[in-house]
Amino acid sequence: MSPAAIKAMGRPPVLALTATAAPPVRKQIAHRLEMDDPAVVVGGFDRPNLNLAVFAFADDDTKNRRLLSHVRSSRGPGIVYVATHRHAEELASDLNTAGVSAHPYHAGLSAKQRREVQDTFLAGDCRVVVATIAFGMGIDKPDIRWVSHAEAPASIDAYYQEIGRAGRDGEPADCVLLWRKADSALLAHFINEVQDPEERERGWQRYHVSKRFAQAGEGAAFCRHRQICRHFGETPKWETCGACDVCIGQPDWLKAEVKLSAPVRTRKTSAPIVVPAGMPAPDEGLLASLRAWRSAVAKQKRVPAFIVMNDNTLTALASLRPRSEGELRGVPGIGEKKAQVYGEEILALVRG
Ligand SMILES: [Zn+2]
Repeated sequence: MSPAAIKAMGRPPVLALTATAAPPVRKQIAHRLEMDDPAVVVGGFDRPNLNLAVFAFADDDTKNRRLLSHVRSSRGPGIVYVATHRHAEELASDLNTAGVSAHPYHAGLSAKQRREVQDTFLAGDCRVVVATIAFGMGIDKPDIRWVSHAEAPASIDAYYQEIGRAGRDGEPADCVLLWRKADSALLAHFINEVQDPEERERGWQRYHVSKRFAQAGEGAAFCRHRQICRHFGETPKWETCGACDVCIGQPDWLKAEVKLSAPVRTRKTSAPIVVPAGMPAPDEGLLASLRAWRSAVAKQKRVPAFIVMNDNTLTALASLRPRSEGELRGVPGIGEKKAQVYGEEILALVRG
C-alpha cells in the first residue's frame, strides 16, 4: 500500500501489521506510509520455552560432525538452517544415510518440489528439513521441537523469526547456533562490497548486533534471551532467563566429544604447508579463515584463488599475524596494491 493510494481513498484509518520488527523498522514502516504519530502496539518478544545455545568452531569439519550428531540424536521434527543450496543437499543426504528422514529445501528447487517438501514435513512424514532461509514463511507447525543454525545469522531479526518456528505449542524446544569464526569475516567481506552507502551501513549494524549475539558468553556474558528482547526494544524484568547457555551453561551434548561411526564428508586435504625459514609456525585457525576468505573473494570476482593471493602469502600472513598496515606491508607477497585492496579485511581476520 502506497501513501498515494491511501490519499486517493481519502485517508481512511490505516493499520500496519508485521510479524517481527525492531524499533528502526517500525519507524520506517510509519514513515513510508506517512503515518502521523501512530499508536504502536507491540507484543512480547520473550519466548521462555526456547532453550538457546551457541557454539563457535575453528573449522568446518568439526562443526559439520557436531551438527550431524546433534540432528541424529534430536527428537521430534526440526529444521536446520544452512547458508547454501549445496550444504542443504549434502546434509540432507548425510542424514538420510544415517537413517534420519530429511529433505533439502532451497530456492534451487522448483515451486512444486518445494511445496512437496513443505507438505511432507507438515504431515509428519519427514522429520528434518535442511533449508536455506527460503524455508518457513507461513509454516505453522506447532510441534517443531528444535531449530538449528549452521551459520551465524545475518541479523537478529532473521534469527528470531527462524527460531520462532520452534515450540509454538508452548512445550520446550532447543535452538542451537553452530558457527565458524571465519564465516563472520566472510560476511564482513560481502557487506563491504555493497555499493549503496546506506544499505552498507545497515548491513554493518546488523552484522555487529549479530556478532555480539553469537559471541556472548565469550567474556561478555549477556543472556541471549535478554539480548533478543533488548534488540526489539523490550527490557525484561528478570535477570537470568534460565534457558540459555550464558545463564545456565552449555547443554551436555555440546560439551561431550563427538564420536561418529556414520560417514561424514571431509573436504579434500590441502597441500602440506611450507613455512619459510625464520618464520614462526602458522596459526592453523587463522590459515583456515584466510583460505575461506580467499575462496569467497575469488568466487565473487570470478578469478582463480591464487590470483587473489597465493598459498605462500596466506601462510606468511598466518605466521606473522600482522597487526597494523605497516606490519602488513612487511609480509612477503603483500604489495602496495594488495595492501590497499585487501588490507582492512586481512587485518580484521587476524584480529579474529
Ligand atoms: Zn539467559
